[in-house]
Amino acid sequence: MENKDDIRLLSPEQLKDFFIEKNQSKYRVDQISDWLWKKGVSNFSQMSNLSDSLRKSLGEKFCLNKPTKIEVKKSIDGTMKYSIQLHDKNSVEAVLIPSKKRITACISSQVGCSLDCKFCATSRLIRKRNLFFYEIFDQLFYLNEQSNAHFKRKVSNIVFMGMGEPLLNYKNVVKAINKMKLPGGLNFSAKRITISTSGIPKGIKNLANENLNCNLAVSLHSALQETREKIMPFSKNFPLEELMESLKYWYSVTKKKILYEYIIFDGINDDIKHVKALAKICEVLPCKVNFIEYNPIGDKIFRPSKVEKLQLYQKYLTDKGIVNTFRISRGRDINAACGQLVNLNGFNL
Ligand code: SAH
Repeated sequence: MENKDDIRLLSPEQLKDFFIEKNQSKYRVDQISDWLWKKGVSNFSQMSNLSDSLRKSLGEKFCLNKPTKIEVKKSIDGTMKYSIQLHDKNSVEAVLIPSKKRITACISSQVGCSLDCKFCATSRLIRKRNLFFYEIFDQLFYLNEQSNAHFKRKVSNIVFMGMGEPLLNYKNVVKAINKMKLPGGLNFSAKRITISTSGIPKGIKNLANENLNCNLAVSLHSALQETREKIMPFSKNFPLEELMESLKYWYSVTKKKILYEYIIFDGINDDIKHVKALAKICEVLPCKVNFIEYNPIGDKIFRPSKVEKLQLYQKYLTDKGIVNTFRISRGRDINAACGQLVNLNGFNL
């Protein structure tokens, strides 16, 4: 790793000071911004509208911590998984999911994860570090290029459903989204961005106040505290009441409905008392339930519930007027589906 700061860590004001010090016009800031956030260059020599000497002094003072190696795996269903080696040799994974209507980029927010959801492979990794906002941005940038190359279309939707808990890397996630939204850059609409959280109440409230205009998905998986604690032990610290209170705040500020993610596990959360509890929570705020197919992660505890149970669950909610869908997993054959991301490079399990 280079002992210099990534130039993207500088605010426009700091960049302006740098250019003034070098007797350059402050408008260089806009040119640099264009190279960094629109063209996504990986070195200073590509900044062709800057003089040689300026490019050299930028290179002497700063670096660009771009991914050093990217490996791809392609699923039989067209899903592509990218293992991205970061400048410090840590790795994260990002997934490109093409469908008729959209191309979704599933991106990571942390190297590993500090949470302990028992059914998620990523939770077996220790959380090594938070991603910098530019590393989150770089995933989108790269996936966009890949999408153009393979599908002749740009990424249309972003989901923070890769490795890590986005609301535990709050500042970088918000900053990355603001960079993705830059009108002079990728100009990505926040309406097409979904942050998926395991349910961190303080983060949800803060996010509501950001005025980002993105969507919120909550990994609920059980509407009963006791069961939720069993499968997501960290949730002891964030009881459902507190979670619901933060979601009420989210809705009161953003007026955006909540997407509850829910895996139905055999024998764990698939009987009538669970579905009743889920329906009760759904009645609190405008929402939609997304049932997720359980993706096996090589354990003996969790099994997907029977199709008939899922149908009953869905019917129960539908009869009560609660919108719900069932999300079929993509990219399972290459371990690219929800909860299967565990890039093993550089990890001590
Ligand atoms: N930490 C965030 C985002 C990453 S996980 C969160 O918890 O929301 C993205 C989604 O995949 C979450 O809903 C998570 O609960 C779900 N998931 C985790 N492991 C899974 C598995 N084995 N099968 C299906 N979905 C899984």
